[in-house]
Amino acid sequence: MRRQVRRGIDTLRRRLADDPPTSEEGLKKLVDELIQQVAAELRTGVGSKLSRVLNATGIFLHTNLGRAPLPRGVAARLPALLDAYCDLELDLDSGRRSERNRRAELLLTTLTGAEAALVANNNAGALVLVLATLARDREVVVSRGELVEIGGSFRVPDILRAAGARLVEVGTTNRTRIEDYEQAIGPETALLLKVHPSNYRISGFVASAEAAGLVTLARGRGLPLAIDEGSGLLRPHPAPQLQGHESVQELIALGADLVCSSGDKLLGGPQAGLLVGSKGLIQSCHRHPLYRALRPDRVAYACLEAVLRCHLAEGALPLNRLWVERAVHRSRLEGLAPTCGAEIVEAEAFVGGGAAPERPISGEALALPGDSDLLYRLRLGDPPVVGYIREGRLILDLRTVDPDDDALLATAVTAALAG
Ligand SMILES: *Cc1c(COP(=O)(O)O)cnc(C)c1O
Repeated sequence: MRRQVRRGIDTLRRRLADDPPTSEEGLKKLVDELIQQVAAELRTGVGSKLSRVLNATGIFLHTNLGRAPLPRGVAARLPALLDAYCDLELDLDSGRRSERNRRAELLLTTLTGAEAALVANNNAGALVLVLATLARDREVVVSRGELVEIGGSFRVPDILRAAGARLVEVGTTNRTRIEDYEQAIGPETALLLKVHPSNYRISGFVASAEAAGLVTLARGRGLPLAIDEGSGLLRPHPAPQLQGHESVQELIALGADLVCSSGDKLLGGPQAGLLVGSKGLIQSCHRHPLYRALRPDRVAYACLEAVLRCHLAEGALPLNRLWVERAVHRSRLEGLAPTCGAEIVEAEAFVGGGAAPERPISGEALALPGDSDLLYRLRLGDPPVVGYIREGRLILDLRTVDPDDDALLATAVTAALAG
């Protein structure tokens, strides 16, 4: 903080020397400007702590907001593990060294029906590990319709290159058939890879090879089939937005040899890459030296284990909040609307995180008379609230706000409205 203030004073000195203001008014303006600048620096720089934010965007898995919020019960268990030692790699029974992956593996195999499982730092890491282990200096066959960019620096062709594998593209952007894969297989082929298109859809004259057909082809040629499911939908979910999205369990049942997915998207857990599949292949990935660089720490394992247990118990996951009944949701909106001076309007929510981009969730949200200025004040509030502007009004979608936080939201909005 001292550094920022000192820099502000230095700037003031320089400005006074170079271009001194001619009036008292001018001097006051200059000082005010610099104070604002220092305050802004402190807000965004070292002074800004990672903060709890109320996500009123209606986008459930918002990458900028940390993707999936952990279930409250899971988060409550964490502190006891964080400031103490834990049996991460010790078998308390025998007193011997054990494997940090063992609990997650048991839970993941139970949930998906796979033989074995391994956890990496994130899905991108899991995919790199698969490619480096099975396809280094060899060929990987991928459909042209699946050479996607997920966001940031995750582009399928780049990931392949980084892992030392050679990409063999088959089919066209809109249509790829099993025969296209078949013709591309040669002596250098190491792997068939299917990637969930995630955040985009092509519609119209389209065709892609089904996982089942690829399984048959891969088996017939003695090649492994890896599928990047991407979102961590371990088992089928009843939400209409997720119909037709093959879960990890279904892909394993179809016969995929390896499936990788993400821990902090639909699974609702911490950032993690979940790799499940056949024992031999998972073991090879585990033994690869790269795995050492990709393995998660105990905090991620602790969160993941607890979230997987919630799934096993069919517990209430935060994601389910998106599909609350309209009537239940309406009473929440009606409770908050008067305090916020808001009207209730139709609004679309989204799963986010690359899942079902073309399938909005219809419903209702609060609309406040306000613009980008109010949006800004809400973001700087306590707690910060993130909404969005639509047709000149500020929209707050409560489907992504925990009902337990409604009182906090009301306080933050009242403060922002008061200026
Ligand atoms: C999100 C996604 C990834 C990347 O997952 P991270 O956990 O962010 O590394 C990879 N593949 C697909 C298909 C995805 O949707």
